[in-house]
Amino acid sequence: MAIQHLKLKEGGRVEFPISKDDKSIYINYDWCKGCGICIHFCPKEVFDASALEQPVPTRIEDCTQCMICVHGCPDFAIVITDASDEAELIVDSEVK
Ligand code: SF4
Ligand code: SF4
Repeated sequence: MAIQHLKLKEGGRVEFPISKDDKSIYINYDWCKGCGICIHFCPKEVFDASALEQPVPTRIEDCTQCMICVHGCPDFAIVITDASDEAELIVDSEVK
């Protein structure tokens, strides 16, 4: 995955599809403060750090969906789910 293809400067939620099933890693770059916890604790070293120290899943094919990054993020910036559940999350966040 080419980092330059991501719209990191614009922030917001970015979808990274996990190819082996229909789930994706969603990272909300508006909420991510670049603490590096997810990058450090991922057992499969899925993430590289962007210039802003935010996670970029450059080795997403190695993700086992262990959810350590999801539960370890202090800012709730990472979600792993399928497309339909994610659509509900977006609706929920817009309602609040
Ligand atoms: S779910 Fe686990 S393997 Fe996948 S990116 Fe997060 S910490 Fe790494
Ligand atoms: S743990 Fe959360 S806030 Fe910290 S770098 Fe990862 S996504 Fe960003």
